[in-house]
Amino acid sequence: MSDLNELFLNELADVYSAEKQLTKALPKMAKAASSDELREAFEEHLSQTEEHISRLERVFEEFGKPAKAKTCKAMQGLIEEGEDVIKEYKGEPACDAALICAAQKVEHYEIASYGTLKTWAEVLEQSEAADLLNETLEEEKETDERLTELAESASNLEAEGGESEDEEDMAAQPRSKRAQTAQTAGSSRKR
Ligand code: FE
Ligand code: FE
Repeated sequence: MSDLNELFLNELADVYSAEKQLTKALPKMAKAASSDELREAFEEHLSQTEEHISRLERVFEEFGKPAKAKTCKAMQGLIEEGEDVIKEYKGEPACDAALICAAQKVEHYEIASYGTLKTWAEVLEQSEAADLLNETLEEEKETDERLTELAESASNLEAEGGESEDEEDMAAQPRSKRAQTAQTAGSSRKR
């Protein structure tokens, strides 16, 4: 077995652990969210995460290996930080903004892992595995973009002490270029 092949399987076992940890953390984050949109985003990402786990199991199969998790310490740390945020800001206007921050750190970590794994799968000429990893990579990126949009309204809400209306949000902060792009692509939940 080549070094890269071994490295790939190690990293795969790491991200498999990361996703499994996330399925336990997301329901808590959804429960702590005060906006409906953010709660829905977490709930939807939970069902996506379950799909990510089964895709990873298919990738293990492509490599002729049984699925195996190797504790991802980075995800443990990221989740721990998320839990601290929940404890510190629960019920306060800043809570959603803080939850989004924790969630985006998780997404960026996953994007890094899946990006690398996809590249390695291509180098190893495992095109089926590369396709599966790429599907998940794209979903993680979409989730990150959706969180960026939600961060705008959550931060406005916090800045105005939780009294903000939707219209004030719109007036207070111009939509970012990124949010507009997402809207054009039809992935935005805003009107
Ligand atoms: Fe995922
Ligand atoms: Fe994710």
